[in-house]
Amino acid sequence: MHDVAIVGAGPVGLLLGILLRQRGLDVVILEQRRRRSDHSRAIGIHPPALAVLAEAGVAEKLIASGVQIREGVARRSGRDIATLDFGCVPGPHPYVLAVPQVLTERILEQQLHTLGGRVHYGRTAQRIDDGGGRVTLEVSRCGGTAGSAGSSTDPGREKVYAARLAVAADGARSTVRGLLKVPVASRRYPDTYLMGDFADNTSDGATAVLYLEPEGIVESFPLPGGLRRWVVRTRALDPEPEPGRLAGLISGRTGGTVDVATNSMLSSFAVRSRRVRRMVHGRVALIGDAAHEISPIGGQGMNLGWLDAAALAPIISAALQGQDTGEQLRVFDRSRRAAAATAGWQAHLNMALGRPLPPAVLDARNSLLLPALAIPGAAAVVARRFTMH
Ligand SMILES: Cc1cc2nc3c(=O)[nH]c(=O)nc-3n(C[C@H](O)[C@H](O)[C@H](O)COP(=O)(O)OP(=O)(O)OC[C@H]3O[C@@H](n4cnc5c(N)ncnc54)[C@H](O)[C@@H]3O)c2cc1C
Repeated sequence: MHDVAIVGAGPVGLLLGILLRQRGLDVVILEQRRRRSDHSRAIGIHPPALAVLAEAGVAEKLIASGVQIREGVARRSGRDIATLDFGCVPGPHPYVLAVPQVLTERILEQQLHTLGGRVHYGRTAQRIDDGGGRVTLEVSRCGGTAGSAGSSTDPGREKVYAARLAVAADGARSTVRGLLKVPVASRRYPDTYLMGDFADNTSDGATAVLYLEPEGIVESFPLPGGLRRWVVRTRALDPEPEPGRLAGLISGRTGGTVDVATNSMLSSFAVRSRRVRRMVHGRVALIGDAAHEISPIGGQGMNLGWLDAAALAPIISAALQGQDTGEQLRVFDRSRRAAAATAGWQAHLNMALGRPLPPAVLDARNSLLLPALAIPGAAAVVARRFTMH
């Protein structure tokens, strides 16, 4: 019997594991993969999440591994038309920290180990029962450890884990959510993107650049290791992305070139949002993408999940000490769903900003909207919104 079972060792499950270990709880983390994913999705870590990561003891390492984005620039036809300075963002971290998700997860898992926790890889939760004062998870096993080639020691064997409470941090397609038949509101967007990392041959340094072009937006973000991430809005989902095609779109819209041979990550994605109506169901809570998937455009999904974990950890600890946490859970549920709605709205705006427009309409829109960024008060509001304040 564990104190808490966490399903999913993505960034959100890992952080919750750390925060619960720091409170002295016995946590088991079950992860269906045989080893950590090497697919880099999230890169942007925002100031409120950095404060939580500092409490978890990993902020310093992440900051040392990342690039601090202190300003963003809107560019059109090779000309900078607006600048957004994050310097006015309150707190000790007035920047967005860029770290590839794969590196972030590695640092989180190292900290979990330091605190005596570990991820049980190759464990797929398949059944859940919330009854008799405990949660029972039936898990199929396929063996393997982090970083290993995934040796299949006991394929298919089933195992049962029991815990006083459970948390589903099992991502956008959450199995636990399905097993508990939790209703979910879902929406598809018409937006599709092609994204890839290349050696940084621009002179933009640590600045994020949004190219607002008639064929659709191109975003470019600095990454550690002399890389740059490029995200391009496409007309349709590219089923078989190729670096050359992404390079062609970048040069066609921005006039800049990337070296195809240096491509180190490539992915195409469509956008969907999903939101549960309640995050707490009996002895099980849903957090992260399992509770609210939002568009990657705006880069807030992982941060949102981390803030769920930070809000939930003290409540779990209090509940396990026998305190009545009913009201705290209601506040958690309400405030975290409200935060997800705000982030979803922000992502919606970001996507709208990047849709194709005839040149004259685009320029009219830009000249209407962007001058506001030259007004200090308005710029501060926008900077705070972009950094999740
Ligand atoms: C292209 C892209 C770019 C993004 N950029 C950003 C960004 O810059 N900033 C940001 O904040 N967010 C960003 N996001 C969103 C971010 O990646 C997600 O919000 C984040 O990964 C969610 O973390 P999670 O731990 O909730 O879920 P996941 O990362 O999906 O992890 C869930 C884990 O649960 C495991 N699992 C699933 N089912 C089971 C089961 N039955 N049993 C056991 N384990 C299971 C999975 O294998 C997985 O490891 C981006 C997303 C994409 C696609």
